[in-house]
Amino acid sequence: MSVEHAQVQRADFDQFMVPNYAPAAFIPVRGQGSRVWDQNGRELIDFTGGIAVNSLGHCHPRLVAALTEQAGKLWHVSNIFTNEPTLRLAKKLEEATFADRAFFCNSGAEANEAAFKLARRVAHDRFGPQKCEIISALDSFHGRTFFTVSVTGQPKYSDGFGPKPEGITHVPYNDLAALEAAISERTCAVVLEPIQGESGILPAQQAYLEGARRLCDQYDALLILDEVQTGVGRTGELFAYMHYGVVPDILSTAKGLGGGFPIGAMLTRSDLAKHFSAGVHGTTFGGNPLACAVAEAVIDVVNTPEVLQGIKAKHQRFKTRLEAIGRQYGIFSQVRGMGMLIGSVLSEPWKGKARDVLVAAEQEALMVLQAGADVVRFAPSLVIEDADIDEGLERFERAIVRLVRG
Ligand SMILES: *Cc1c(COP(=O)(O)O)cnc(C)c1O
Repeated sequence: MSVEHAQVQRADFDQFMVPNYAPAAFIPVRGQGSRVWDQNGRELIDFTGGIAVNSLGHCHPRLVAALTEQAGKLWHVSNIFTNEPTLRLAKKLEEATFADRAFFCNSGAEANEAAFKLARRVAHDRFGPQKCEIISALDSFHGRTFFTVSVTGQPKYSDGFGPKPEGITHVPYNDLAALEAAISERTCAVVLEPIQGESGILPAQQAYLEGARRLCDQYDALLILDEVQTGVGRTGELFAYMHYGVVPDILSTAKGLGGGFPIGAMLTRSDLAKHFSAGVHGTTFGGNPLACAVAEAVIDVVNTPEVLQGIKAKHQRFKTRLEAIGRQYGIFSQVRGMGMLIGSVLSEPWKGKARDVLVAAEQEALMVLQAGADVVRFAPSLVIEDADIDEGLERFERAIVRLVRG
């Protein structure tokens, strides 16, 4: 029997795949909006959004149209040539943000890799090789390439792979005094997530981001905001920095940008971008027509007052109900986050049990995420129907009842 015609099942994962993931017991085969069906035809409500990636849910007609139209035109030409979707996407992102230069790649890690390399290159060219230190936050997450995982403030992800890149310091998040103590003339960049995503949906305090901006200016360091998770409408503004009014020098984004099609972007200003002259950095697939055509459609849909306003309203709908569930069953100490990026922090007796909540939710045909062991994370479609929110939270409450009763 050829592999092509063989039935595949979850058990095959353990036999054929590198075991660096531990996927759920079911295999999704089809999605529409915020609903997903598995191999057995079971329907689930999706509050995961592919980890904050499926900005417009599954198979949004505008994205399907953009992808299929481009698929019939031009897939790839390499960066020896530019292409129309890339240029249109760059213009749209720049019209909507602080930036006037864009670099496209294929993932969040690659966007951060480009951001960190650019920051070091700018400092090297302007001030010399001693100005190379990058300051990042403890519990941050910036990707899995060796440079970005070393900047990530979670040593468990970077230990055990040999010598790490040097010149990286980690300081406690939301602690301006600690940042002030660490920054120096040797600092080339400070990198922060406006909301720490992977480690628990923890938003930056206003004074912290403002203070970081001020310190960076004082020490000629660049402020890099990692908006891989918070970007492209996720928080109810096109980018989270807009909530704070704190403008970065470099912004990285990815996850939601392609709505499920892999693409990442580094946005910056021309006075910095010029240090990446021809040949200094690159990628084969970055900025390819298919990815950029889909991302352009994502931006067209998301960057409208109706959709951004809708995200804020949906946040309230989620939060009100989650807080009620938390009060009734004593399971949450706090519900936090912005827009369609919400974290329910487990109360003391439930600490460490986020995984149990995921499993219980799945038994009620609901997909949710965790962010660390203590936080249940919700990152659904930015245009999820109110009816799906309500039905999903019904299922969620049933899952909590199931857990509480043991
Ligand atoms: C997911 C994430 C990354 C890594 O993105 P990949 O596409 O997995 O490489 C980087 N930074 C943040 C804040 C993220 O949430």
